[in-house]
Amino acid sequence: MQRSYEVRTYGCQMNVHDSERLAGLLEDAGYVRSAGEATPDVVVFNTCAVRENADNRLYGNLGRLRPVKDSHPGMQIAVGGCLAQKDRGEIVRRAPWVDVVFGTHNIGSLPTLLERSRHNREAQVEIEEALEVFPSTLPARRESAHSGWVSISVGCNNTCTFCIVPALRGKERDRRPGEVLAEVSALVAEGVSEVTLLGQNVNAYGVEFGDRYAFGKLLRACGTVEGLERVRFTSPHPREFTDDVIEAMAETPNVCPQLHMPLQSGSDRVLRAMRRSYRAERFLGIVERVRAAIPDAAITTDIIVGFPGETEEDFQETLEVVRRSRFSQAFTFQYSKRPGTPAAEMGDQVPKEVVQERYDRLVRLQDDISWDLNKGLVGTEVEVLVTEGAGRKDAETRRLSGRARDGRLVHFSPVGGQVDGEVRPGDLVRTVVTHAAPHHLVADGEPLAHRRTRAGDHWEAGVRPRTSGVSLGLPSFGRPATEPAPVGGCEVR
Ligand code: SF4
Repeated sequence: MQRSYEVRTYGCQMNVHDSERLAGLLEDAGYVRSAGEATPDVVVFNTCAVRENADNRLYGNLGRLRPVKDSHPGMQIAVGGCLAQKDRGEIVRRAPWVDVVFGTHNIGSLPTLLERSRHNREAQVEIEEALEVFPSTLPARRESAHSGWVSISVGCNNTCTFCIVPALRGKERDRRPGEVLAEVSALVAEGVSEVTLLGQNVNAYGVEFGDRYAFGKLLRACGTVEGLERVRFTSPHPREFTDDVIEAMAETPNVCPQLHMPLQSGSDRVLRAMRRSYRAERFLGIVERVRAAIPDAAITTDIIVGFPGETEEDFQETLEVVRRSRFSQAFTFQYSKRPGTPAAEMGDQVPKEVVQERYDRLVRLQDDISWDLNKGLVGTEVEVLVTEGAGRKDAETRRLSGRARDGRLVHFSPVGGQVDGEVRPGDLVRTVVTHAAPHHLVADGEPLAHRRTRAGDHWEAGVRPRTSGVSLGLPSFGRPATEPAPVGGCEVR
């Protein structure tokens, strides 16, 4: 009998994508995805160390799983990801019923470690200090029929004082452009129409092979991949944001008019304490140049409120940058200590009630800006890539949901007009915005156009893309000179 597995993912997109790799690895090793309510034979926790209390949550979850494991002989539990990299052997000391602990640098070892643990009847803890193989050389079982993640780099050479990532993911490692493009082409060959290029510091891409313009070139090269409708990327760092990237975004039609660029603080004093090496004026300059080159770009950001030592004056400077930047969305976080980061040791921590009050003011300001910008879109035409379950109210309103090219969430009516049969996730619909809310748009008129896509066909047939490890190592730009690496064909869910 085939053993079943379940992967539980916490944290960022990088982890979501690593989980696709873990699923691909397990399926290549003969495991099947656990169905419905059945208890899986293997549960893998892909953890995150960035969130507050992440460790308490993990040990709570492991504790709840213990009686389940006791009543299912042969069941195995594995813990990977950033928290595993950080806590290492501590995990099996605190939860001795865990079978396998693996780190961020050796996710490819999971099937072997599970096997070894079963055979030796003892826990296996294997943490590597450096990346064994680039995760993208591992097979992946993709979650979405229409959108795919593509890692272009892992790790980060910066040392932001609030961030645990450099300690857990190591120095930046870049994939060769040919490998990235081969994976993009492989996904498109499987029906995917949107890719998001991923990196902890995505626009530093090229630092490892000595080309500071590599990221802009990569965007332009993605523009030559036939059938690829949308290219996004996350997250760039303002320090490395060069003008050639703005030009590449503006001049490459399939690169979406969207930029997510973390601000973190609008105060130069706080940015210095965060060890973020740009200043507010530089950030605003980038925003201005992006707006000049791509007038319809939606710019989003991340902001931390209440970093140690932040004064009311510092916070006012953040509000000012927010006012001037006119972000379409901001992901706002209240600072809280992350063990193992320099900021956790800083004096002058801001009291919780002060952080909360500043946070509330920031959210109010940003909501007003977001809403105002969205109101400006009423009456305009949008192209929506239909997604699965992107809105909670859809069942009541009979609307479907999707993302506009600029990344905005759109709830739309799929009835009447130019609709060609049923509208499915993965299809493209053109419609007109009729109503705006701070965090989404509504289009209740009849669609102007509906394009049935291969991604939609795959979604309907229950097929998801499955890519084998892609590793061509072509050190050049442009479309891969050879055929894309072999892909594993579509599989039925
Ligand atoms: S740029 Fe800063 S916040 Fe981003 S991953 Fe690197 S160290 Fe962390």
